[in-house]
Amino acid sequence: MALERTFSIIKPDATRRNLTGAVNSYIEKAGLRIIAQKRILLTKAQAETFYAVHKERPFFGELVEFMISEPIVVQVLQGDDAVAKYREVMGATNPANAAEGTIRKDFALSVGENSAHGSDSLENAAIEIAQFFSGNEIVG
Ligand code: UDP
Repeated sequence: MALERTFSIIKPDATRRNLTGAVNSYIEKAGLRIIAQKRILLTKAQAETFYAVHKERPFFGELVEFMISEPIVVQVLQGDDAVAKYREVMGATNPANAAEGTIRKDFALSVGENSAHGSDSLENAAIEIAQFFSGNEIVG
């Protein structure tokens, strides 16, 4: 197993319902360590850049509006196989398909308002971490 870092977002539907600590407890119970964390309000440009890979998809506009609607919590998570492990802890994108005991099964409201983001590869994790954190904000 490799010690990895992944990028996580606690999305607006979760921060709005005061679920930051609840989501964090799923992360920590899974053995992942929150090594950087801050609460921010995304600008529209930041949200569009972050989700640029989806810009041709029909849900893009709605996704951007959702992501800027309330503050989010951005995080760096560290642990063995952190990228794949956090995807498992989050559950499937659509909460209807998410496994029992996952963040999305337990908290997500819909496929769009699904409480959590986690990087889908180690390469994207590094890119996403660099978009939101400078090196001296991450204490591993
Ligand atoms: N999304 C949506 N409608 C869809 C698919 C995705 O609103 O039909 C949103 C949802 O918030 C999701 C994000 O777009 O988390 C990014 O989609 P992706 O397929 O990358 O899923 P993820 O990696 O977040 O599970």
